[in-house]
Amino acid sequence: MAEHGNYSGGEGRFERLLLEVKGRINKRQYDTWFGRATLEQWDEGQLVLGLPNRFYQEWFQSKFTELVRESAQTVAAAPVHVRFEIAGLGDAGSPPPAPQASAELPSTGAPAVEPQPAPSPAPASPRQADPAYPAPFQGSGESDLPLRLNELYSFDNYIIGPANSVAHASARAVGQNPGRAYNPLFIHGSVGLGKTHLLHAVCHEFMTRFPGDRVCFLSCEEFTNEFVRSLQRNDVDSFRARFRNVHLLVIDDIHFLKGKERTQEEFFHTFNQLYQSNRQIVLSSDAAPNEIPTLEDRLVSRFGWGLVTQLEQPEMETRMAIVRRKAELMHIDVPNDVVEFIATHFRNNIRELEGALLSTRAYADVLGEPITLRLARAALKQSLQPVGIGITIDKISQLVCERFQVKIADLRSKRRGRSISTPRQMIMFLARKLTSLSLDEIGDYFGGRDHSTVLYGVRKVEERYRTDPTLAATLERMADRLGGRLTPEDTGRTPQNSYNPK
Ligand code: ADP
Ligand code: MG
Repeated sequence: MAEHGNYSGGEGRFERLLLEVKGRINKRQYDTWFGRATLEQWDEGQLVLGLPNRFYQEWFQSKFTELVRESAQTVAAAPVHVRFEIAGLGDAGSPPPAPQASAELPSTGAPAVEPQPAPSPAPASPRQADPAYPAPFQGSGESDLPLRLNELYSFDNYIIGPANSVAHASARAVGQNPGRAYNPLFIHGSVGLGKTHLLHAVCHEFMTRFPGDRVCFLSCEEFTNEFVRSLQRNDVDSFRARFRNVHLLVIDDIHFLKGKERTQEEFFHTFNQLYQSNRQIVLSSDAAPNEIPTLEDRLVSRFGWGLVTQLEQPEMETRMAIVRRKAELMHIDVPNDVVEFIATHFRNNIRELEGALLSTRAYADVLGEPITLRLARAALKQSLQPVGIGITIDKISQLVCERFQVKIADLRSKRRGRSISTPRQMIMFLARKLTSLSLDEIGDYFGGRDHSTVLYGVRKVEERYRTDPTLAATLERMADRLGGRLTPEDTGRTPQNSYNPK
């Protein structure tokens, strides 16, 4: 059990919280994850748990938020808001690389980047739950808060491929030469394709080059909230002063403006003011300007004044390079076949690629085993796309025939002999596992063979899949290439555990 923080307001409750959590998950999970959680703060319905590193933090955020909230509410008998922070407990896990040298805040001396896990407890500094949206300003004005960005979202860590090269190059140009080439720069694309990452990278680049200049980075939701708050406080002037005096204004997810007329109006004037003073504006959105519903025409047209560029879904090589880079950053040792496997199965969204990597690592942690293809397959079983979409027996045959250098026509004929029957049985097996064809239908494909012949072939390969690791690897690779998956169940046995490496 980890030591608990110095905080003295809620130890008793914290013990009860841990007991509550313990009752809701299994012991291994509890020991792995909660053994290192500490209490940072618990008052006024606000619970902050400290965790050893970013990996834990992300894991808790994605897997345990509900569990902790519910448990805390049970203990407190009142609503509780939960946050997870990095507590700087030292050698645990994998500290990300040291922050890059970057601008310090003259007013507070706080670092301009998000605080890193440090070997000794870090000095108290303002923190927020979501590292993508830290406090929005860098600058020297008295009312400003420090701008803290995710230092991992840099151009260096951004993998370039055909799907994002234009967006990347223009973002870079804007960070280096603000207010000139592309103003505004408008980057759009669907979720998880790297918009926020690019926006952070622009800020890093800009801050390195123009350390004295004022940068404002925030989500459109925050912009809206700030505006509404200023209306409530009757203090729109200071809101305006804050946003209209920056050198670089970066607003993430600007589509959030839809349906918000007054905020649109306000943003319109902010935009004009900055634009006229040659201040750089960078925006991201989930859709092109003219596809954002209810966005005023005058904004739509202004968003098109500079450069509008789209992030597309990255292709296989880029996805593999991203998985490799993320693994490096997380200090995870991932063999090539696992990189390929993850990149094959998570195509649409880069955040999912990362999630897959994290899940695989967590699974390996829990089992205390190295990451292998087998293990990744078991770890990701639940999240893999449904089997068999778009997979046909023709595609399977093609692949198998290529691999064994035989002709499809020979396989489908009555010919016998080992050189023919092994690939034939492999096709039967793969067709059975990866398509919805019945035994009879597979038999028909092979020149009207009986369903019991097909069943025999499938069983034969199942047995070899169980006992022959080389063949198992070949089959799994083929399944990957087809866009499907094999699981331990495909050995024909019903395993006791979902993970059964032997
Ligand atoms: P969006 O804002 O478009 O929803 P994010 O910027 O949050 O997407 O990206 C999701 C995750 O994918 C982030 O962790 C980001 O670092 C990563 N990512 C996206 N594109 C790339 C890329 N080209 N190279 C490396 N990482 C990327
Ligand atoms: Mg985003």
